[in-house]
Amino acid sequence: MKYLGAHVSAAGGADQAVQRAVEIGATAFALFTKNQRQWKGKPLTEEAIAAFKQACQQHGYGPEQILPHDSYLINLGHPERAGLEKSRAAFLDEMQRCEGLGLTLLNFHPGSHLNSISETECLKRIAESINEALANTHGVTAVIENTAGQGTNLGWRFEHLAEIIAQVDDKTRVGVCIDTCHAFAAGYDLRTADATKATLDELGRVVGFEFLRGMHLNDAKSEFASRVDRHHSLGKGNIGLEAFTTIMQDERIDGIPMILETIEPDIWPDEINWLRAQAPGAAPGK
Ligand SMILES: [Zn+2]
Ligand SMILES: [Zn+2]
Repeated sequence: MKYLGAHVSAAGGADQAVQRAVEIGATAFALFTKNQRQWKGKPLTEEAIAAFKQACQQHGYGPEQILPHDSYLINLGHPERAGLEKSRAAFLDEMQRCEGLGLTLLNFHPGSHLNSISETECLKRIAESINEALANTHGVTAVIENTAGQGTNLGWRFEHLAEIIAQVDDKTRVGVCIDTCHAFAAGYDLRTADATKATLDELGRVVGFEFLRGMHLNDAKSEFASRVDRHHSLGKGNIGLEAFTTIMQDERIDGIPMILETIEPDIWPDEINWLRAQAPGAAPGK
């Protein structure tokens, strides 16, 4: 079973994100549990938590179908102590918000070395940040997203993800989310079925599918291996549709939220229907 959806707005409360997921015919969704451009969010009220849980229950979304994303400001590999501590505190808060909402995954971009420390040192800091957050929470898995490798962002090579995971103490609560646009921009070819299979095989070899806890399905406006992160609607970018058909037919990718972060929310229902129709034996539509 493949859970399909999009990163929906949580304006008006997390329960509103659930309604928006329902409206687009999604069986999965992503959301921010606070304003993603601010360090601090209002604590979630008991009413907000109850409304979210009630909406999820009513519409049949379990925690395995929901992939919350943390704030863009957080850098868990920050070279400076003050920045690192601020990031770690904010990340812990994000993990605790997920815990409060009864969610089990938190998707985040690993971090940036800002040209001040080595890649190895930065990856080590990221792992230590994850260890600290996991030690202070229960039941939430830290889901590291591969990046396009823009600027000094790490996590664009599958080896970076593996190196972080290797240094995380609790392997049951760490995983990865693979963004197709980021992978393509980082130099993993997805332009044909064969290239997509080869990229997925490499993911399996380097990281392992047991760690795959989510996917972001985006076509790319950016060029292959450009290290530039620009999403596009499925089939309209430089990746093309074949990759997404191949992914939908791959049995190694099952039971995880697969999230569109494509640029035209108006066509999300069509994109979801199209994806659903690619799965073997699936009837299109809902
Ligand atoms: Zn993404
Ligand atoms: Zn992106």
